[in-house]
Parts: sequence; C-alpha cells; structure tokens
Amino acid sequence: MQSLAPSFPSVSPVAKRAARVPGLKERLLLRGAAFLQSLFGCRGKDRFGILMYHRVTDILPGVPEPTWNVTPRRLREQLTGLLSRGFQAWPLRDILDLHDAGTPIPRKAFVVTFDDGYECVYSQAWPILRELNIPATIFLATAYLDTAEPFPCDDWLAAGTSQVPADSWRPLTWDQCREMQESNLIELAAHTHTHDDFRSCPAKLLRDLRQNVLEIQKRVALYRATFAFPYGVVRDGFAGGEMSQVAHQAGLLCSLSTEPELVLRDQDPFTWGRFPAEQHDTAATLAARLGGWTCALRGVKRALQSRLRI
Ligand SMILES: [Zn+2]
Repeated sequence: MQSLAPSFPSVSPVAKRAARVPGLKERLLLRGAAFLQSLFGCRGKDRFGILMYHRVTDILPGVPEPTWNVTPRRLREQLTGLLSRGFQAWPLRDILDLHDAGTPIPRKAFVVTFDDGYECVYSQAWPILRELNIPATIFLATAYLDTAEPFPCDDWLAAGTSQVPADSWRPLTWDQCREMQESNLIELAAHTHTHDDFRSCPAKLLRDLRQNVLEIQKRVALYRATFAFPYGVVRDGFAGGEMSQVAHQAGLLCSLSTEPELVLRDQDPFTWGRFPAEQHDTAATLAARLGGWTCALRGVKRALQSRLRI
C-alpha cells in the first residue's frame, strides 16, 4: 500500500469502501476453487452469475492505487478467458425475460455490469466490450453526469487530481451514454440519482429513484429500468428487505445487491446478488466464482470453523 500524499482530499466515511486485497487464505481458496472448476466444471444447473465492475483504468506509479478498479488489460483477459471457457455474456434484460417466462437460463450465462458511470467505461471498457461483442449494463448515478467533479462516493484519494487521467474518475457525459446505448450493446440503468445513503429512509429512496429513472428517460428511450443498489450490502441495510420493496414500488425490473452469490432459477430478481470482479481476479478465478466453487469452498470453510469451535 502506498503512502498518501497530503494533497489528496479526504472522502466521507460512507464513501469509504476500499477494494479488498486478498490475504493468503483467500488466495488459496480462490486457487482451490479455480482448480476444482477446471476439473469438474460448473456446480448445479439451475443458477447463473452477475459480475460487478466500477472503474477501468491503468495503475500509475507514484499515486494511490485506484479503488474498485481493473486495468483495461485485466478486463480484456478476464472476459476473453471466460468466453474461451465456454461462458456466454447475456444482456441483463434478456436474462430477466427468460426468468419471467420461466425459461431455464443457460448455466454458463453471465452478466456484465458497471456501477456509478465513470467516463473510463466509455473510453476504456466499451472498446473491449465492442470488440468481444459483450453486452453490459451501466448503473448510473445521474446527478453527476455531465459534471467535472468526482462522484461523492468515489473513495479513490487521487480522484479529481491532475496526477491521474480525468476519465479515470470523471462521470460520463450524456452524449457518451447515448452513443453507447445506441450501439444496442449497452443498457443504461438506475443506481439512484444522488448515490446517497438511503438506509432507513424509504420515502427518500422512492423519490430519488423516480428522479433517477426520469433523468434517463429524458435522454433515451426507456420504459422500465433495471436497478442496482448503491453500496449494496444487505447485512449493512443498503439493500434487501424494505429497500427492495421500494425498488418494486418505483416500477423497476430488479434490484441487485453486492452480495457475492449466484442467482438461483426461481430467485426473486429484487434479491439477486453480484460478484465483484477485481484486479486480482484471473479468468480462472472468475470462472470459479461463476461456477459456484468459490461459494462452495467458503461454505466448507465456515462448516469446519464452526465444528472446530464445538
Ligand atoms: Zn455505486
């Protein structure tokens, strides 16, 4: 971890959600899961997975490492590697349509999503998605599009400074959003207008979500939006329960959390989770997450720990 230069601004406590750096045990678990995936393939037939990205930018020497980031090279490796392992990228809406119709979702389907709406999704990720023909959903915090300030939720201390490229922290413009959406490869989606902390504030969340969807509808053709919760952790109250009911009330098609778990065939789309795809992830470890082996090994680890405590 690099030391922080005093010129980097501080961020609000709620915005602090630094990316996980896996320790030795976690790295061993991921490697074990990747090995089992390579030996046995996916576990179970009635599930699929959703990947969550945020920022896509290079790591520069002399500045704090970007948070919630994969480099463009890593993104390409991850997606190419998943395709070569037989995984198929599906648009979120098509998966929802299959779910609504009760049609089985292919076991190796996966969904790519980006949160917040960083400009680097347009400048760095979109060319890769186009080249590989991979559809993706961008969950937009609409209050900040067309501005030149970092998202208030951005916990990267170098965001907004001249030491790093502006597209690595600046919000997308609506022109960029429109251009991507017109390609039919990218879906623009809801992520709340302000990206505030809405815990215990259902009425405020409902108002914000309605504005969020309206802002997108002003610019592109959109009837009902898909949605991912900001912050998204169920146990911390950012998603699930009352919050999911509000998303339903706002007329959204789904509400995705950040719980790292596979989606089961009959699971309510207002409770679907997503796996964070991180810089340390290889295509093999992502395949193991999507294949169900990472969750399986975590379950075994928890069971062993509880048994040893008895
Ligand atoms: Zn977000």
